[in-house]
Amino acid sequence: MSTPLTDRHQRVHRSLRISVVDKCDLRCTYCMPEDQHFLRREELMTREEIHAIARVFVDHFGINKIRLTGGEPLVRPDTVAIVRDLTQLNIPLGLTTNAMTLDRHLEGLIDGGLKSINISLDTFDAERFKKITRRDGFEKVHANILLALERGMRVKVNMVVMRSVNDDELLRFVELTQHYPIHVRFIEFMPFAGNHWGRERVYTYAEMLGRIGSEHSFEKLTDDPHSTAKAYRVADWLGTFAVISTVTEPFCGSCDRLRLTAEGKMRNCLFSREETDLLSALRRGEDIAPLIEANVLAKHAMLGGLPPFKPESQEEVLHDLSVRPMVSIGG
Ligand code: SAM
Ligand code: SF4
Repeated sequence: MSTPLTDRHQRVHRSLRISVVDKCDLRCTYCMPEDQHFLRREELMTREEIHAIARVFVDHFGINKIRLTGGEPLVRPDTVAIVRDLTQLNIPLGLTTNAMTLDRHLEGLIDGGLKSINISLDTFDAERFKKITRRDGFEKVHANILLALERGMRVKVNMVVMRSVNDDELLRFVELTQHYPIHVRFIEFMPFAGNHWGRERVYTYAEMLGRIGSEHSFEKLTDDPHSTAKAYRVADWLGTFAVISTVTEPFCGSCDRLRLTAEGKMRNCLFSREETDLLSALRRGEDIAPLIEANVLAKHAMLGGLPPFKPESQEEVLHDLSVRPMVSIGG
């Protein structure tokens, strides 16, 4: 019998994101600082350790959804094997990827039981892709999105919308949902260590809906009670779109996510400044269940204890940010 993980604000936590590696084959400006240092191989959780830790979350605490992320999960050679292990836990499993090498791994992932995939793409312009990700790769990612669809995967496309960088492409992304059963998710640009965030660079949820509404009429869909995204559909189009409004309309009260970094540190919020080292405890042969419980109980009411992301609190937010960039937290 499992006990749900409830924090001191009585929120129940059911979903776990596991970063399997902190390295990446892209270097997105909003995610990875130029001078990023990566973990050594022996510091990463092994495939067996990932499975053992995930099992405690599922068996003891009723976690019923896992997503693998990174860094870029597909740069790790045993990610397909990790997927195979985790599908044995019989709960929905997802993977978030930049899709640079998805064509090489897709069949293995499908055979391993993966049915849904989130792919990050911020532009349809190959030159702009190079500027944002500091690498060449638009054609590859675009082709791999179509390949995943062709092979019957449920596909979500994540776009980080940044003012004066790619906000002019919003409608192009919405139009992707006309003929494809894709779920496009527009993410407000969030502050992390070393990503040159500024409140003025955030293209807001309200602005997004205004811009989309100027061209298309759309309807609100019913969101899952723990969804972090607010979903919509343009009438009669195949796919849907959604907005993740972490900056202008945080959804902390209903967020049910916990996170594990690639070196096995547990975080109860994307913006946490406290972590619990589960991997070292596991390697010492200790029971990690009490550590997990204590970590969740210590969760802050909002934004990991950061002040609200208002223009007047920008300096405070930047000062108080966790030392981690997004690439080493896991998105
Ligand atoms: N490499 C994979 C990818 O890009 O999909 C998985 C890891 S990435 C850190 C996970 C998600 O976080 C991506 O969709 C990415 O766009 C998003 N992300 C990264 N930095 C962000 C930021 N500063 N604000 C909003 N979303 C961000
Ligand atoms: Fe890599 Fe994903 Fe971060 Fe881009 S968003 S640098 S692809 S981890």
